[in-house]
Amino acid sequence: MSRRILVTSALPYANGHIHLGHLVEYLQTDMWVRFQKLRGNECVYICADDTHGTAIMIRARKENCDESDVIARMRKSHLSDFNRFQIAFDEYGSTNSDENREICHDIWKFARAANLIAEKEVEQLFDPIAGTFLADRFVKGTCPFCKAEDQYGDSCEKCGKTYTPKDLVNPHSTLSGATPELRTEKHLFFQLEKLHGFLNEWTQAGTHLQPSVAEYLKNFFLNEPLRDWDISRPAPYFGFEIPDFPGHYWYVWYDAPIGYVGTTLAWCKRTRQSFESWWKNSDTEIHHFIGKDITYFHTLFWPAMLHTAQYTLPSRVHIHGFLTVDGEKMSKSRGTFVQASTYLDHLDPAYLRYYYASKLGNNTNDLDLNLDEFVAKVNSDLVGKVVNLASRTARFVQTCGLSSTYPEDGGLFAEAAKDSEQIANTMEDGDFNRAMRLVMTAADRANLYIDQQAPWTLVKDPANAKKVQDICTVGLNLFRQIVIYLAPVLPELATKVGELLGEPIHAWEQAQTPLIGTPVNTFEHLMVRVKKEQVEAMIEAGKEENVVPQTSGTSTDEAAKTTANTVSEALTAEPFVEERINIDQFGAVDLRVAEVLRVEEIPEARKLLKLTLGFGGDVQKTVFAGIKAAYTPERLTGRLVLCVVNLEPRKMKFGTSEGMVLCAGTGGSDLFVLSPDSGAKPGQRIH
Ligand SMILES: [Zn+2]
Repeated sequence: MSRRILVTSALPYANGHIHLGHLVEYLQTDMWVRFQKLRGNECVYICADDTHGTAIMIRARKENCDESDVIARMRKSHLSDFNRFQIAFDEYGSTNSDENREICHDIWKFARAANLIAEKEVEQLFDPIAGTFLADRFVKGTCPFCKAEDQYGDSCEKCGKTYTPKDLVNPHSTLSGATPELRTEKHLFFQLEKLHGFLNEWTQAGTHLQPSVAEYLKNFFLNEPLRDWDISRPAPYFGFEIPDFPGHYWYVWYDAPIGYVGTTLAWCKRTRQSFESWWKNSDTEIHHFIGKDITYFHTLFWPAMLHTAQYTLPSRVHIHGFLTVDGEKMSKSRGTFVQASTYLDHLDPAYLRYYYASKLGNNTNDLDLNLDEFVAKVNSDLVGKVVNLASRTARFVQTCGLSSTYPEDGGLFAEAAKDSEQIANTMEDGDFNRAMRLVMTAADRANLYIDQQAPWTLVKDPANAKKVQDICTVGLNLFRQIVIYLAPVLPELATKVGELLGEPIHAWEQAQTPLIGTPVNTFEHLMVRVKKEQVEAMIEAGKEENVVPQTSGTSTDEAAKTTANTVSEALTAEPFVEERINIDQFGAVDLRVAEVLRVEEIPEARKLLKLTLGFGGDVQKTVFAGIKAAYTPERLTGRLVLCVVNLEPRKMKFGTSEGMVLCAGTGGSDLFVLSPDSGAKPGQRIH
């Protein structure tokens, strides 16, 4: 009986481009969805852009545009990448949609009614430079438990413990580098512990989770109560305002998973489906594909929300590891932080689809993209074993077509037909690695047959015409069987083979019946070998591209990488000054801490802002700073900066500048105003 399956991938954040790390998830989900559809199941693939939160707000501020502009631009880019990688969503929505707002309100209503929402005063970290409260992911510091450095504000990648950002030792804002200030605000909390029994049962019994994941979660239920989940953020915040708590917004992690439901609602409206039959129906299977970094959200909070609001619970959460390249974290400086579009400039998406499939198991291990192995595997498996079956046979039957009865083949077709269920079971389990090995074993048998029969020798004698037709009929049918099994992984190849043999590939069962008596169309190259130089060119391009750091979803520690990288690029652009100075020469520069009292825009000036700086008491100076492209007056007012106060005053068109504010960067929008750590006072000298 046909199953009804709703599948999701984690929502990519609308603040960065899709890269090869993200594709580990989207490609495996797409393959799994295509597999289900090929098996005749009713299956719908739902995804959306995750659009809310501080990062989008900050970016819009920086780019002097509306959040909706940032979202629209990134959506276009995401969709183009997904499309070119043949990732076929049934609906691709946005968390900023009316449908999502509707579901957010609905789930909220249930959570309130169930008395799960509590109001508490919280101290939250505030970035005094960026002028915003800081999401957990925007604070980094040292893990309070294991003392690992450079950990995010919500959990430690080293020891796996979770905590709140204010527990971090030596915290800093990843937005501005400032030391965050503690401010007190009212927040709303989801009281997870009230669902302790349900969650313990849901995570530990049944097959919702991989055994290793269930084991990991077990620890959360043993000793302490489950922590309340902070689900509101005070303004300024980009998101949905909470209906019964004005001036406060749902935290992005509240409405992001709801985006699965909201986008389904949009799809139901568009295709005139019943929404209830998908999300309010225990006969529907819900499958989430996620990276291991967001396990906690999807296995505790998310089922808790769904359970409370009486939506269908996930049948399974499929959790995968991260991507490494040549055994290391993706890295901008090594050029292995490759965007999807950069890959596509150099390589066929089918290569990556197959390579990832050949490495994916049903586990949370990291997947390593070994670049040499990538070249070798594509060439030996896809070109050497699979496509080669057709290129060695199709041209001999282009005029006569396939034999009218299926010839004797020593049981080869029957053997591969028998593999069908085993391959299907491994794909169902997400064990694509094993599935690919089974398919390649079938390809080996088929190649051995062609080698032994050598139709290219027989064809020289016209008396062998029938024999050659039979051999090629067998060869092409074995080839087609393999392509049917590979269709979820290589949809474009499946389409081309459907055209070559005059019968579209649309169902898994097609592998059970050989084609006979049908014409064979003109053979064209189905896939070419990949060259090492193409991969090298992609890595070179990867070194050049300027990736906007992602801040949620697939985690590869991008923010840190970006920082490390800017240093080396900056040094190349502006090497150290060779000429030495002595301490007295340095001492001749009078550097002071100053408070920015006022900032005025000068409409006629392209680059300048007029700053009034305070040095304590009523000592003030006017400084014209060429930072208009990088800063708005609001971002500067009230913060502490560093100023050279004994420079010769400079007469300018708009007035006299009595000092210089210190900035890092090369100019234009690439400028970063320096600030002292918190505690410094205006007027203090810098030594
Ligand atoms: Zn730790």
